[in-house]
Amino acid sequence: MYDYLIVGAGLYGAVFAHEAALAGNKVKIIEKRNHIGGNIYTEEIEGIHVHKYGAHIFHTNDSEVWTYIQQFATFNRFTNSPIANFKGEIYNLPFNMNTFNKLWNVSTPNEAMSIIETQREHLNGKIPINLEEQAISLVGTDIYKKLIKGYTEKQWGRSCQELPPFIIKRLPVRFTYDNNYFNDKFQGIPIGGYTKIIEKMLEHPNIEVYLDTDYFEDRKNFNTEANKIIYTGMIDQFFEYKYGHLEYRSLDFKTDILDIENYQGNAVINYTDKETPYTRVIEHKHFEFGQQDKTVITYEFPKEWEVGSEPYYPINDEKNANLYKKYYKLAQTEKKVHFGGRLGLYKYFDMHQIIKASLYAFKKLNN
Ligand code: FAD
Repeated sequence: MYDYLIVGAGLYGAVFAHEAALAGNKVKIIEKRNHIGGNIYTEEIEGIHVHKYGAHIFHTNDSEVWTYIQQFATFNRFTNSPIANFKGEIYNLPFNMNTFNKLWNVSTPNEAMSIIETQREHLNGKIPINLEEQAISLVGTDIYKKLIKGYTEKQWGRSCQELPPFIIKRLPVRFTYDNNYFNDKFQGIPIGGYTKIIEKMLEHPNIEVYLDTDYFEDRKNFNTEANKIIYTGMIDQFFEYKYGHLEYRSLDFKTDILDIENYQGNAVINYTDKETPYTRVIEHKHFEFGQQDKTVITYEFPKEWEVGSEPYYPINDEKNANLYKKYYKLAQTEKKVHFGGRLGLYKYFDMHQIIKASLYAFKKLNN
């Protein structure tokens, strides 16, 4: 008999397992994939740590979380400064004085503000009823057309006029020459990749990990093996889709190994036109300032999610929010099972939020 059965060896499950084991509990983790780490998994190709499920940059304002994660890795000084490529024109992100200079040849914040202000008047004070109007009300027409429209339409598979305005509540606009994407105090990439972090978390005699093991293949038996279950899989699947399927946006990744040292000169390039079928190209070596002879790049193609495909981004609309509420109510009636992580709570979380939530859950459950 184990104290905890943890379904899923992603970041949420691993932090929980680590804390539980340190406190003297016996823990069994089952993971349906053939590796640990969930979506932060990195695998080594040509000596480069490849972010298998999309680019992951650790960033946080929370010094407790930052201190916590330092136990498991040393972080480098990587600063996320993505580039936008619009039909071959290159712009800095987030929108800042470098972007405005390239767009309008302005050099002072006042000049940039006045252009944005004039373009926002395009809406004539109308309250935005869709994402297009919302974006124009925030940053004006030029930035919307070149840097937001195509990217967003590819990402969501729908026109910006059909998307609700609330998807973009705020857009980072900076009137300084600062290409640092995040405002957080701490950011970086773990030297040696993310998988090593999870390996370290799970390296404890009280923890047993079983890969290629799906909870639903034998849930009755698994349920009898532990006093408490930490479930980080899809909440609707747990209840056998009783009320229907929660929806997601999914992604296809295409990874190429290239026989050149440097393909695009930056870790992340966003393709913001509608015609290019992918949204981003990631060149993994730049996350760790790699000097290898070869390089590895990954194209990200957004796609509709269908039952059976990888669920990446929960859909933030009324239909899915209402459906989730029904599953959440059911989850509250499960005495032995705690639902956690991005799939268990049907919510997008960054890594620092997952760590915080898992530490909190452990403190609450383990007394
Ligand atoms: P997961 O990593 O999904 O782990 C859940 C695990 O449970 C998986 O391994 C899954 O296989 C397993 N599982 C599910 N069902 C079962 C079952 N029935 N039986 C057994 N095992 C099961 N965050 C950042 O902070 N910075 C970023 O730059 C960033 N970029 C991102 C880019 C993309 C494309 C995506 C999708 C996310 C990004 N994130 C980023 C978020 C980050 O990936 C999450 O915060 C984190 O991975 C969530 O961890 P988790 O344990 O909740 O979920």
